[in-house]
Amino acid sequence: MAINIENIQQKSAPIFPWGSSRPYNAYVDHLKERFGGRVQKVTVDAGFTCPNRDGSKGYGGCIYCNNDSFKQTYNSPDRTIPEQIETGISFLSRRYKADRFIAYFQAYSNTYAPLKRLKVLYEQALSHPKVVGLAIGTRSDCIDEEKIAYLEQLSGNYHITVEYGLESPYDKSLAWINRQHDFQNWVKAVEMTDGRGIHICSHIILGFPTESREEMLQTADILSRYPLDSLKIHHLHVVKKTALAKRYKDKPFHLFGYQEYIQLVTDFLQRLRPDIRIQRLCGETHPGMLITPQWGVRSDVLQRRVEMEMQRKNVWQGKTNRLTSI
Ligand code: SF4
Repeated sequence: MAINIENIQQKSAPIFPWGSSRPYNAYVDHLKERFGGRVQKVTVDAGFTCPNRDGSKGYGGCIYCNNDSFKQTYNSPDRTIPEQIETGISFLSRRYKADRFIAYFQAYSNTYAPLKRLKVLYEQALSHPKVVGLAIGTRSDCIDEEKIAYLEQLSGNYHITVEYGLESPYDKSLAWINRQHDFQNWVKAVEMTDGRGIHICSHIILGFPTESREEMLQTADILSRYPLDSLKIHHLHVVKKTALAKRYKDKPFHLFGYQEYIQLVTDFLQRLRPDIRIQRLCGETHPGMLITPQWGVRSDVLQRRVEMEMQRKNVWQGKTNRLTSI
């Protein structure tokens, strides 16, 4: 990304290098610019499982994981992919007035199958005339050169994103959440995907009791060293029917309050490389599934609050990034 400090030094409403006055580099703005209008994700449940659930890596999954906590009503592996996409598009078109969509393979690990099966599923999604790309959520231990080569080929015609869940760069935290892979495994997958025309996204969770506040902020420094195009930031929350819910009940630990989290995210973004686009600033779950923390605010409200706080403090994404401060 070209850094134009003069823009930032303007006295009012600075335009940042990502082309907006928003103090962080929002993914939604990037999609709007690239496609000339609103592009919405339409979720798909293609019936995958996960190596951390079926026993090939582990049983029970990551301790916070409950896929029912974010599933849309139109997502079910009992329905075909075209059916799910058609229903999702009809709903989202009315709600967001979008006319282009990215099919989001969200539930479980969406590259955890032989390539032959992946091709059928992905190409069913791409056959919808309003679908301009794929976002594929997966684990870093569910990818290989053959799958990357196929996604690289697709990326010649479509916007292809692979989302590698990381959750934390600290192996002590990955052990605490029963992730069943380490940080180096994620590094290997990201490096394998780099330079192939595929957008690389990752997820992290802030708030594990295994990490200090400074370690959480250092996560921004660590991620900045890797070729990520975008990032989803979640706060740790406890959802019903998870191992975490039991662990929290047996031995409660500190979870972020709303204001405290806003301060953390504001500080985190300052340390993050400025060209990493932000897809999300907090976790979300169906309200009936959430145990704690109960902030009672929607993600868009939190997002505006973070923007206001950054403007109040006169800070922006990358301001104190050690590799590319702007
Ligand atoms: S969070 Fe992802 S990797 Fe972990 S158990 Fe759930 S689906 Fe599997």
